[in-house]
Amino acid sequence: LANKKFHVGSSVIKVGNCEIGGNEIVIMAGPCAVESKEQLLETAHAVKKAGAQILRGGAYKPRTSPYAFQGLEEEGLKYMAEAREETGLAIVCEVTSIQAVETAVKYVDMLQIGARNMQNFQLLKEVGKTNIPVLLKRGLCATIEEWLNAAEYIMSEGNTNVVLCERGIRTYETATRNTLDISAVPVIKSKSHLPIIVDPSHATGVRAYVPSLAKAAVAAGADGLMIEVHPNPSCALSDGPQSLNPDDFFKLCSELKPLAEVI
Ligand code: PEP
Ligand code: MN
Repeated sequence: LANKKFHVGSSVIKVGNCEIGGNEIVIMAGPCAVESKEQLLETAHAVKKAGAQILRGGAYKPRTSPYAFQGLEEEGLKYMAEAREETGLAIVCEVTSIQAVETAVKYVDMLQIGARNMQNFQLLKEVGKTNIPVLLKRGLCATIEEWLNAAEYIMSEGNTNVVLCERGIRTYETATRNTLDISAVPVIKSKSHLPIIVDPSHATGVRAYVPSLAKAAVAAGADGLMIEVHPNPSCALSDGPQSLNPDDFFKLCSELKPLAEVI
């Protein structure tokens, strides 16, 4: 179902009022985690002003350490829905369990499957039974073939609204958190009709490198970007070092605009 051979043209996935895979570069931005109503609303207004179309924010956080902040769960989803009401932005949230899917479908415009759950086949089937668009992140050590098979798990349950997200893979390089596989963009375009976006924040783990890779992704033909933005990155409860502040995000968006027009 994800294979280009058996599909006419490229898929355009509608999320809220925006279309991913169409002519426009879609930007999803927001904090790694929803921390409070104030933090989220401040970020939502800032990313909207800069030109983002979708607000991201984690309510269920799959952290490397069990002692790290795990997310506000349903309370976080409620704040996300409030931010949508205030700004008109569509919202995307990660789900980490079948119970989280049951709760999240009441609130979100797009469900996110994180890198760590890319091969959680029960979870893939569960989001495949919904009719809500799914953002499927590439697993930390997944090949492109495994990633497309994960998309197939979702689509074979009936939900064909899948958007892929390259977020960096594990390599021997330690200068960045992961290594952005920029070639995944043209490879996916050659194999699949599904849209692909790039997440330079999780790919690098370093805020200073995010703008370069965001531009590289657009130049390579990505349909959109996911970027972490926090009103005060040094106080963030998760992923502060890779989060842009609102001013830097605004600057990046203004630099991306002419590039997106040329491409
Ligand atoms: C995220 O987007 O919040 C996240 C945890 O990313 P990943 O699954 O790519 O690590
Ligand atoms: Mn994060």
